[in-house]
Formats: sequence, C-alpha cells, structure tokens
Amino acid sequence: MKPDFDLAIIGSGFGGSLLAMVARRIGLSVILLERATHPRFAIGESTSPLANLLIEQLAERYDLPRLKALASWGEWQRAYPEVIGGLKRGFTYFKHEAGKPYRAAADRANQLLVAASPNDETADSHWLRSSVDQFLLKEATALGAEYLDQTWLHSVEWRADGIAELKGERLGESVRVAARLVVDAGGPRGFLSRQLNLPETTFVGYPPTQSLFSHFAGVRRSDEMPDYAVSDAPPYPMDDAAVHHVFDDGWMWVLRFNNGVTSAGVATTDELANELRLAEGEPAWRRFLSRFPSIAAQFAGAEAIREFTWQPRVTYRATEAAGRNWAMLPSAAAFVDPLFSTGIPLTLLGIERLGRILLESFGGNELSERLHEYGAVTLAEADHTAHFIGACYAAFPRFENFTAYSMFYFAAASYSEMARRLDRGHLVTRFLAADRLAFAASLREFGNELRVPGDGADPTAFARRIAAAVDGLNVAGLCNPQKRNWYAVDLEDVAAGAAKFGLTASEVREAMCAI
Ligand SMILES: Cc1cc2nc3c(=O)[nH]c(=O)nc-3n(C[C@H](O)[C@H](O)[C@H](O)COP(=O)(O)OP(=O)(O)OC[C@H]3O[C@@H](n4cnc5c(N)ncnc54)[C@H](O)[C@@H]3O)c2cc1C
Repeated sequence: MKPDFDLAIIGSGFGGSLLAMVARRIGLSVILLERATHPRFAIGESTSPLANLLIEQLAERYDLPRLKALASWGEWQRAYPEVIGGLKRGFTYFKHEAGKPYRAAADRANQLLVAASPNDETADSHWLRSSVDQFLLKEATALGAEYLDQTWLHSVEWRADGIAELKGERLGESVRVAARLVVDAGGPRGFLSRQLNLPETTFVGYPPTQSLFSHFAGVRRSDEMPDYAVSDAPPYPMDDAAVHHVFDDGWMWVLRFNNGVTSAGVATTDELANELRLAEGEPAWRRFLSRFPSIAAQFAGAEAIREFTWQPRVTYRATEAAGRNWAMLPSAAAFVDPLFSTGIPLTLLGIERLGRILLESFGGNELSERLHEYGAVTLAEADHTAHFIGACYAAFPRFENFTAYSMFYFAAASYSEMARRLDRGHLVTRFLAADRLAFAASLREFGNELRVPGDGADPTAFARRIAAAVDGLNVAGLCNPQKRNWYAVDLEDVAAGAAKFGLTASEVREAMCAI
C-alpha cells in the first residue's frame, strides 16, 4: 500500500504549522491533523530575540517571505495589522514581599530590567496565539499542506515497511491516514506518548509546580502606578515587556496585547499552590492577589475574559522524543516553565533541526539515526533548561541571587543570537549554551549552590563569581554593578566582545551595520 503523505503532523499550533510550511518548501506532502478548530485559545505567548531570529532564519532558508514579517514588531504591524500581538522590548522583573506594597529600592536591588531590542521597530512580541496560530495555519495550507480539523485520533501502527497508519474519526466518519513519518506537535502528554506507552519522567532536583492563568481586560500598566515609580528613565517602557512579578514561592507573568487584552498567570511551588487552592480557579486568583497589594492594585479594575485554566503539574518530560519514523516537537517532548520564555525558542530549534533532517535525510538510510540523535538533543536541552529554572525557583527568596544567576540566561541568549547574526553559529549550537562545556558546568554548579537550603553566601561575592563564570559569553555588558539591574541594548558591548566570536571590533561593527 502506498502512503498518502510523506509527513503527518499531529496538532496545528504554531509548531505544527511552521513545520508543515518548512516540509512543503522541501517538497514533501504533508497533512496536519488537529482535534480542535481555529481560532482556539493556546498558552505560550511571549517570544524572545532568539525565537525571532530563528523565525527570520527559517523564513530565509526555506524561502518563506510571508513568515519573516512576524520576526520583528515594526514589520509585523505594517504587514499584518489584523494578527494580534503585543510589543516586547525586554524582560521586566519586580520582587514582591507578601503583605507589603512594592516600592523600588534606591539601589534597584528588587527589580531587573533587561532590554532585548534597541527600539520598537526591531522588538520582539507576544503572540495572541488564537490569532497567530490561525494565521500560520492559513500560510501552511496556502503552501499545499492538507488540513483536517476536529479529528480525534485513536491509534497509530507501523507496518513492516515502516509506514505509519493513523486511525481516528472526524464528525462521525472514520479517518485513516498512512504516512512515512509522524511528528507529534500536540503539546505535552500527547498522542504519541500515549500510543507508544512512553512513561512520564521528572526533572531531577526540580520543585513540583502548578499554574493558574487567564486573559484579562482592564489591567493597569505598572509604569502608570505610583507603586512602581522610578526616578530615572528606564531602558524601555517597563510594561512593553514580559513583566514578571516574582515572590518567594513562584512568579506571575503579565503580557499585554495590542487589542486591550492582557495574559496573566502564576506559576508556584506546590506548597503555595495548595495553600491558595489553585484548583479552585478564580477564588484562588483573588486569594493570590490579596497577598500582594501592588499586584492587586494593578488588577483592581481588571476582569477575566475567559475561564481560568489550572495546571496541576506544569512540567512534563517524556522518556523518548523520537524513534524510527516518528518524532516529537520539543514542546511535545518536554516542558519546564514559562520563566524566560524558553518554550517557543526550543520549539523553533526543534523545527530548525527537523527541517535539516527532512531536507538531507528524508527517505535515506540514515533517517532513523538522525531522528534518534534529534530526540536525545531535545531531551538534553530540556534537562539543561530545567536545571537552570529549578535553581531560579530556589533563588526567588533571595532576589539578588536570582538576578545574578539569571545572567546565565541573558549571556547565553544574547551570545547565541549574535553568533548567528555574525555567521558564527557554530560557536554555540545548543539552547542555553549547553554545548559550551565550561559555561554549562558553571550553570549547573551555581544552580546546585542555590539549592542548598539556608545558603547564607554573600550575594555580592556570588554575583562577582557569576560574572567571571559567564564572561566568555558576555557580549551584552551584563553583570555590571554600576548598571544597577537596568540593562539597555548597546551594540558597542557586542563590539567590545568581538574577540569572543573570533572577530575584531570593526568587523563586528561593519557586520552589524549591514544587518
Ligand atoms: C502556562 C504556560 C505558559 C507558557 N508561556 C510561554 C511563553 O511565554 N513563552 C514561550 O516561549 N513558551 C511558553 N510556554 C510554552 C509554549 O506554550 C509551548 O512551547 C508552545 O505552545 C508550543 O507550541 P506548539 O504549537 O508546539 O503546541 P501547542 O501550542 O500545545 O499546540 C498543540 C496543538 O495540537 C492540538 N492537539 C493536541 N493533541 C492532539 C491530538 N491528539 N490530535 C490532534 N490534535 C492535537 C491542540 O489542539 C493544539 O492545537 C508556556 C507554557 C505554559 C504551560
């Protein structure tokens, strides 16, 4: 029997649709199988510089010019004003103490602002996923991907010739699809995990966490509230960012879209989640707000415009992420936490890798081996990310330690972005610089130090040691105490770090001008 399609993709979130677009440009026949209908709500909204650069590079590599506009805020707004998103100039953090209003400390020790772009034009974005995912699905189908929505898959079986047979039903009719390769893009605990009986594992040393979130209207901007007032001009408007309200047992995200809607939610340790009884939804949200007066004031006039979603367990890790003629996108293989917006770039890295495999090895004898390697890298990156974020949870009660440790993320992210922009991508190929061995080992060692209960180390010395550990990748002027936790984008910092790319300062300046 001949297969109906080269590639069957389960799930049409942005990940499934983007992979379908790439596969179509490679010349494969593709079907997207979706159990819901678009537009539909999805969480996972805040992008990052690396995510947008990956989109730009996928658009260039696979000749997808219509995709490229999504990679920077200005171009997006001109090209697709009807696709809803939000401006993200950086990462904003405020540390709150239960029962007390927030007030910026004179030395700004209880906040951190890291700019991700020098202006609105080139800025990152938050994606209103119902809108962005629908847009990408239309792009995928315009490129010739077949699409079946409202399709409930029941089983998959691989025949002796390696072809997968997927069976399910759609609107009372049975559906049968035969494909050479199946990719699960359905998110955590998905179809292939269940069908292949892959047990769920945990991340070693990671605290159990829960989440509660919704979309809201009427959320005040913190930069218009006296609680968050600062005496100097910040590196970017503080709310045109992923705003993080950090507290001892977790954190909250606030992401604004340009249609008046704001996404907000909390991720907390089980201890606090159980105390707040997050499972109860809105009443738990109100209990949470009542602990933190300045967050409550920000949400005083706000109204949830959809039901609350409670996630009893935020993390997920499958035991395998790929095998013979099947693979999971990183988002189906594992998830850690929304902190630092790692989900979208990890998914895009997976699409980039799968794209290369499809281009170079689809139909070849080496396909299985390359998929196996892809699966191992996917899970190793998830573990590395989980080690980092787990340590951030341990650091939350001592915010100075969190700001110091967060420099591992900001150094790795800015170095990775710049290395790719400067055509030096081979210098760092894994997420969070997991392949820069000394850097990655330090990330783990400092993380272990943070996990020691009651660690009373001097935070200034801790920050100084971290500055030394990240120095090899620090091309963004990070870890500078004189900046008092406000980091603007300055391309001269990249030029000053030119040797870290094996370039001279003038070569970096020249390359940056050409971009
Ligand atoms: C609370 C929370 C907040 C997050 N915030 C961020 C963030 O700010 N930034 C960030 O980078 N990442 C974030 N993430 C991660 C982000 O959500 C994921 O990386 C992203 O959604 C992955 O996109 P996707 O298209 O691969 O999958 P999804 O968005 O999960 O889409 C999966 C699609 O598959 C469909 N589907 C599922 N199962 C089946 C099936 N059996 N058959 C057919 N169809 C199926 C679903 O209906 C859906 O349309 C967050 C995650 C969580 C849990």
